[in-house]
Amino acid sequence: MADRFFTPDPLGPGEYVLTGPEAHHLSAVRRFAEGDEVVLFNGDGHEYPAQVLSVGKKTVVLSVLAPVVADRELGFPLVVASALPKSDRADFLVEKLTELGATRFVPLLTTRAVVQPKASVVEKFERAVIEASKQCGRNRLMLVDPPQKWDDFVARTDLPGPRVVLHTGPGLAHVGSRGGAIAVGPEGGFTPAEVDRARENGWLVLSLGTRILRVETAAIAATALLGERPV
Ligand code: SAM
Repeated sequence: MADRFFTPDPLGPGEYVLTGPEAHHLSAVRRFAEGDEVVLFNGDGHEYPAQVLSVGKKTVVLSVLAPVVADRELGFPLVVASALPKSDRADFLVEKLTELGATRFVPLLTTRAVVQPKASVVEKFERAVIEASKQCGRNRLMLVDPPQKWDDFVARTDLPGPRVVLHTGPGLAHVGSRGGAIAVGPEGGFTPAEVDRARENGWLVLSLGTRILRVETAAIAATALLGERPV
C-alpha cells in the first residue's frame, strides 16, 4: 500500500497544497520528493492517488488524480463504548479499534472508573484514529463521541443491535455475532446497578470467558468477534 497522508479538506483532481504536520511527515519524515507517488485521503470513503510536484519548507504541492473507491469498512455499524484504561493504553485501544473497523467509539463515565475521561480526550483520540487509518488503509474515520455517562449511554436509541455489555462472572452467555454495540467496564468492573440499568434498556449481558481481561483487551477481543467481515 502506498504511503497515505490525511487532510480534512475536500479533494478532487488538480493541484493540492498539503500543509501542517502531514506535510512535515511527507517531506521531512518519509522524505518524499518531486515525482514520488503517495495517496491522500480525507475520510470521504475514497482515496486519492497523487504525485509530489514540489516540496517547500512547510508545504507540499501535489497533483491529485481521480479518486479511487477503496472500501475497507465492515459494511455494518459497530459501536464500541468503553471505560478508559490509563493514558497510553487508552491510545492503544483507540488505535486497535480503528484497525478492527469499529465505526464509533464512546468513552464511558462509570462508577468505578479510575480514569474519568475529560472532553479533551475526543481531540486526542481523533488524532489516534487518523494515525491508525493512515497505517491500516481505512478511508472512513472511526467517529469519537464526547465522554458519556453510563445511564445516558445505555438509554440511547440510535445504537445498532445487538447491544452487548461485557461483564465478568459465571452463567453468562458468550459473545458471537455480527455488528452491533459493545460496552466495556472499568478496571473495577460495572456495578450491579449499572448492569441492571443496561438490562432494563434491553442490553444483553455477555461474557468473553473465564479469565479477567484488561479493559482494552476485552474491547479489542469483542470488536474482533463482532466485526468479522469476509474479504
Ligand atoms: N474486577 C472486575 C470484575 O471482576 O468484573 C474486572 C474488570 S475487567 C478488568 C474490565 C472490564 O473488561 C469489565 O468490566 C468487562 O466489561 C470487561 N471484561 C474483562 N474480562 C471479561 C470477560 N472475561 N468477559 C466479559 N467481559 C470482560
